[in-house]
Order: sequence, then structure tokens, then C-alpha cells
Amino acid sequence: MIINQTNDLITITDNSDSVATVHFKQIVDWINEGIFCVNAEGKIIYANEQFCRNLGYTHSEIINTSIFDYFWSEDHIKYAKQKLELRKKGLSDIYESKMRKKNGSPVWLRVNGKPMFNQQGKFVASITLHIDITQQRMLEEELMLAKEDLEAKVISRTRQLSEANQMLKEQIRERKLAQISMANSEKRFHDIFMNSPDAIYVESADGIVLDVNEATCQLHRLSKQELIGKSIYFLSPEHKHTEIKNRQPKIASGEIKKFESACITQDGREIPIEISVAPIQFKDRPAMLMHVRDITDRKKHEAILHQLNEELEQKVKERTKALEEVNLQLQAQIEEKQKFQDDIQRQKDFLRQIIDSTPSMLYVKDSAGKYLLTNQSMADFYGLTTEEMEGHYDTEDKFDQQQLEEFLAQDEAVFQKGDKLQFPEKSYIHPTTGEPIWLSTIKKPIPSLASNTLNILGVSTDVTAIKTAKEDLKISEQLYREIARNLPNAGMFIFDTELRYLVAEGALIGTISRSKEEIEGKTIYESIHPDEVSRVEKIYRLILEGNNSEMEQEFKNRSLKVYHIPIHNEQGKVIYGMVMILDISDLKKIQLELERRAVELQRSNEELERFAYVASHDLQGPLRTIVSYLQLLETRYKSKLDTEATEFIHYSVNGAKRMQSLIQDLLNYSRLSITPKPLSDVDVRDLIQVVTNNLQSAIKQTNAEIVIGEMPVIRAEKSQLLQLFQNLIDNGLKFVKDKDARIEINAIEHDDEWEFTISDNGIGIREDFKERIFQIFQRLHTDSEYSGTGVGLAICKKIVLLHGGKIWLNSTVNEGTTFHFTIRKKIFKLA
Ligand code: ADP
Repeated sequence: MIINQTNDLITITDNSDSVATVHFKQIVDWINEGIFCVNAEGKIIYANEQFCRNLGYTHSEIINTSIFDYFWSEDHIKYAKQKLELRKKGLSDIYESKMRKKNGSPVWLRVNGKPMFNQQGKFVASITLHIDITQQRMLEEELMLAKEDLEAKVISRTRQLSEANQMLKEQIRERKLAQISMANSEKRFHDIFMNSPDAIYVESADGIVLDVNEATCQLHRLSKQELIGKSIYFLSPEHKHTEIKNRQPKIASGEIKKFESACITQDGREIPIEISVAPIQFKDRPAMLMHVRDITDRKKHEAILHQLNEELEQKVKERTKALEEVNLQLQAQIEEKQKFQDDIQRQKDFLRQIIDSTPSMLYVKDSAGKYLLTNQSMADFYGLTTEEMEGHYDTEDKFDQQQLEEFLAQDEAVFQKGDKLQFPEKSYIHPTTGEPIWLSTIKKPIPSLASNTLNILGVSTDVTAIKTAKEDLKISEQLYREIARNLPNAGMFIFDTELRYLVAEGALIGTISRSKEEIEGKTIYESIHPDEVSRVEKIYRLILEGNNSEMEQEFKNRSLKVYHIPIHNEQGKVIYGMVMILDISDLKKIQLELERRAVELQRSNEELERFAYVASHDLQGPLRTIVSYLQLLETRYKSKLDTEATEFIHYSVNGAKRMQSLIQDLLNYSRLSITPKPLSDVDVRDLIQVVTNNLQSAIKQTNAEIVIGEMPVIRAEKSQLLQLFQNLIDNGLKFVKDKDARIEINAIEHDDEWEFTISDNGIGIREDFKERIFQIFQRLHTDSEYSGTGVGLAICKKIVLLHGGKIWLNSTVNEGTTFHFTIRKKIFKLA
């Protein structure tokens, strides 16, 4: 389609060359309105500026688009399409429609449309003018909404009013009904009040009687006039007044609605009452309606009930007590019974234990040979448990047929005799070990507990050990006999537990006792002089109790050593006693001789010691004189004497000095035993400290190291102990060559004594000198090699002996020596 705008004419042509011409002037009148043209399909073929503005689009955006795209809803589109169809048929129209702007907001347009036809009368296009009536429509809509709102409000208010109206109507009706019922109930109430058999009265809040019924008058025995205006205190017994006073406010407030009290009558009787309270309006004022019920009967019944109850309770208590006592008795009986049963069970267990702990086999069989009871030993013997045995018979798989028959024969014999039978010891094959064993069997008939038949109680003891022991004994008896026979000056007796002599053997038999024949096989009662029996019996019984002893005895000018020896079996049980007698007369003689000599030696020793002491003591004086005169000679005549004479004098002085020190040491030695010293507790560590102080210069000279171990406090003579340690340590420092000395001192505790060791790293002592060096004046070196007198160790030995100990040494030549000595722990005085 082409729209041609020339001169004042607008020419519109379509494809079929139909032309519509509109005079432009015609359009100008509409110019302020929106104008658009659509073709038969609704496509916008012309739009003026106003139309574009109304919809918010540009001209190019809107041209050639479908007009139907701009309507607000389907309904509007449908309506517009109908209008277009009608226009095609030549109808113009005016209508209002809602369209959508580009920004989505609605726009209301009033449309005025006209069809345009070509000269052939064919529809070419429709031209539409429109005005934006949006504002008008909005106002209309608002108005509509306001109207609707108003209408809704009117409806709701109307409904509320009609509801209120309805309620009002109902209230009026109810009130009317209430008035009617009130009138009725007041009448009814009055009737009930007056005619009630129960006392009813009206009371003001402060307890004044306002109205009463007939029953109240009867209760108090007062007239209505007398009662009205009275205080309730007047109507109540005095002892209730405080209670009433406390209760009154609670009744008035409605807190108490029912209570029990009492009232008083004209004649002074007190009647128990129960009062129910209801608040009422009396003559337009609040009051209380008091409904009084005489509860005299109820109270009486209650009292009776209470009494009955108490009686019942009492009876229940008594019955309970009686029952409790019975219960206690029953309990005690049950406990006693339980105890009794426990005792029986314990006894049973105890008996079972005894039976089971018996090494002998114990069993009870019935007459048919079934085991009723077996003990553990019996079950062990068969390699079964007691449960497995009881209720069963001996079977061939345990014993062979012959043995079984023998058992049955034994049982038979017992039944026949009706008494106990001891069967001779017999050898069997053990059913479990297969070893040969000896059994000693005793069987006894016992009455059956279940019936009056007889059962058999059997006790079989394995006597294999005794049998073998007897065999062994025969051999050892032979042995004993042989020994005793060959011992010179000996005699031996062996007796059994019945104090019967089994053996009497040896050279002394027949001399210190009766002959062998008179003794063997006899008891002591048959073979010993009656005066001696009780003494010997006492000794023998002690031996059989296991006492081992020995004693010496003088008998018929002989010295006898008697040994009492119990002889045990393998289980440690004493089965025999032995008395062994040795004639020690010769030994005794020798011993006496030795003792005599020892005493003599001791005496001569002491004499010698005393002599040595006296000699050394007395020798000191002349020796001192010799030394001092020789020294005088040397100094005075030095110039007159030639060198040889001076030398001789020098030697003599030296010799005399050495003799002096020898004598001094000898004196020290002999003093040890001559002057007895007291004992005291000596701290050995302190003592060694003193010794090392004394030997300070020697220690320095040898650059010695002294190591001291743990030291005890011991009981000893302090000065002697000091000398002992000093001599030994001094020797350790002295007999060291070409090295620094090292001395180590230790103490070892034994049961009865302390052992001390003093070790050095010196020249050592050869094995063959180990004893000799402890003798007085014994030295292994010359005086020029190592100075000394050879008395030091002799003194040490003497001190140790005096303290009940001993001294010895271990040594390796060139390596060192360890001196050991012991000191007894318990010394009461020096030996
Ligand atoms: P002394 O020391 O006066 O010679 P003692 O009786 O003390 O006399 O010693 C005797 C001898 O035993 C000594 O001369 C010495 O030969 C040897 N003797 C003692 N103690 C030691 C020792 N610790 N090491 C090596 N020899 C020793």
C-alpha cells in the first residue's frame, strides 16, 4: 500500500491499484488527536505523532506493526477485531478501549473509527482518531472503588447493627424471663425457707440474725421475734466465740462455705451443728443464708464409730503383736531348723571329707554287690569318680573273674558269719596302674537304712609299702646286726612301737645287759629289771616320738656313750627306736690326760709369760745403764780412742738400743695377758682415724692412699684394738717397695662375729711363712732391709685370741697381702 501526500490530498493506493483520496483539510481538524490507519488485517499503515506519544513509542517502532499488539487484554483485542470487521462493512464506530504503553502502563483511549473505500467501493483502510481518556477513566475507577468500599462498609455496619439489635432483643427477652423466674423462685425460696425441716436463718455480714425459719426457732427454743436482731454469739456457746470470731470474715468473703460448730438453746443445751453458707441479697443488701443441720446424731455415731475404730485398732494392734510374736517364734523355729539342717549338711560334708581323705578304700555294698557308697580313695583306685561308682557293680574290665569271685566269696563269708572279718593280706594287680599291690581288707555287715536287709561295709588298705618296708627291714636289720657285731665295744638295741626288742647285737650285749637270747623278741617289761622299767620306758617313748639325743653314762666302771635314734619309714613316721651304746672308757682316759696336760701347759705358759714380763721389765734398767755408760765412754774418751774402738762402741750402743726395743716389745707383748682391761663399745671408724693420725708421717712418706669401708661399732678393749689396727696398717705401709702404698680396710658381718680385712699392695708373703710370722721375734728380713723387732704380728695374734677370734692372711708375692681377723660379737671379758 502506498500513501501519497501531494497538495492537500492524501492518496492511498493498494496493490490492486484501488485508490482512496482524502482531503488533507479534512484531517487537520483532528490534528490534536491521535490518528492512525490500519489495513484490512489491522497492520498500522499510518500513525501521527500524537498516537505514537500516547503509546510511548517512536514512529518507526510502531509503523507496520499490528494494532492488536497494543491492546490491554484478549477481551479488548477481540472487541477491536469485531469493530474492524464492522468497519470493513462500512460502519463507523466510537468506543473506549484499554491499551498498553511501551512502559507497560495502561492507557485508555476513546476511539472514533471510520472505514475508507476506493472508488470501486472496496475497503482500503480504516482511519481512527482517538483521545487519551486515561485520567478520566482512572477517576472513574477510583470513584467506583470508593463506591464499592462505601457499599461494603454500609453492608457490614448494617449487619453489625442487625446483630446488636438481635442481641438486644434476646437480652430483653431473657430479662423478662428472669423477672418471671425470679418472681417464681423468690416465692419458691420463701416456701422452702419457711417450711424446711432444717434450721435456716439469714445473717448479716457482721453476724446479726436477720430472718429465721420455724425450724431455727425450734432449735433454739426461741420465738422469731426473740431471735431476729440477735448476734450469733448469743446463739453460740462461749467456748466457740473465738473460733466464730476468726471464722466470720472468711464466711463473709465466701472462703468458708461449710463448717461445723455448736449452738446453744434457751435451756442452755449445746447442740452440735453443721452449717452451709450461701450468699444472698436480703432486702437489697448482701447477707448470708445459713443452713443449719443438727448433727447430734451424727456426732454420736461418729463418737461410737471413733470408739469402735479405736477398739478395732487396739484389737488389730494386739492381734498384730500376737501375730508378730508368733511370727518371731516361727522365724526362730525356721532359723533353728535351717541351722539344724546346715549343721546336718556340715556334718555330712565333714563326714564325707573324712571318708574322702582316708587313704584306705572305704565302701558300702548291698547284698547283690552294688556299691551304695564309695570314698575318693576307692574311686581313685578304680580310676573313676565316686558318682560313677555308686549304683554300679564290680565289673570284669577292672578285675579278672577269679578276683571278682574272691570278693564275692569274702562277702558271702561275712554274711554267713554275721560279724566283722579280717582277710589275710593279698596281692592283686592294680586295676589302673597294672602294678602288683597288696591289699588288707576288713569287711563288716551293717544294717541297710532302706530295708531290713544287710549291707557290707568294706575297708581295704593298700599295704604294699608296709610289705616292702618289712622286706627292706629284714635287709637293714641284717645290716644293723653286722655293723653292731663288728663294732668293738658297742651294743645296739632296736625296738618297735610296742617296746618289743627286735634286735640286740654287739660286743657289749651280755655285759651291760642280759644276753641276746634273753632280750630279742621280748618287751622291755619282760626283759628289764622291774626297778629300771619306768625309766627305760620313758626314754624309749621319747625316741618313738622322734627325739634324737645322746648322753654319757657311767655304768659298772665303764664310761658309756648312749645314742637314742628314732628310725623313720619313707613317710617320715617313726616305726622303730634304736639305742646304740659305745664303751668310751679308753677314750675318756685319754681325754682326761689331755685336759690335765692342757691345764699344765696353760699354767707353764702363764709362768713363762710372767717370767718374760719380769725379765723384760728388770732387764730394762741394766740395759739403760749399759747404753748410757757406753755413750759416756764415747763422748768422754773420743779423742783417746782410735777409730776402731769408736766403731766398736758405736756397734755396742746400736746393739744395746736394739735390745732395748726388743725388750720393750716383749714387755708390751707379755703385758697383754697380765694386765686385764675393761671392754667398751668402740666405733671402729673413729679408731682407724686415730691410727691414721698416729701414722701420719709414714703415710706421707709412702704417699699412701687409705680406703676405709663401712665400719661397725663393736665391743672390744679399745687400746688393744687400736694396737691391732695400728700394727697391721703400719706393716702395710712398711712392706711396700718402689710404689705408693695403698691400704684398704673393710668389715664383713657374720652371725656371731665381725671379720675385718686390711689389704696392702706391698711385697707380699711367701706361702710357707704364712704361719711363722705370727710367732714372736719371727722376721723375714734383716733390720737394715726393713726395721722392726718381729713382735708386731705376735701381739696382733694375742689381741685377736683375747677377743675370741682368729687371724690369718692371703698373699701374693709382689702384689700384696690381705690380713683377716675376726672379733666375736658377744664378749663379756677378754679370754
Ligand atoms: P716386724 O714388722 O717388727 O718385723 P712383725 O711381727 O710385725 O714384725 O712382722 C713379722 C714379719 O712378717 C715382718 O718382718 C715381715 O717380714 C712380715 N710381714 C708382716 N707384715 C707384712 C706385710 N704387710 N707385707 C709383707 N710382709 C709382712
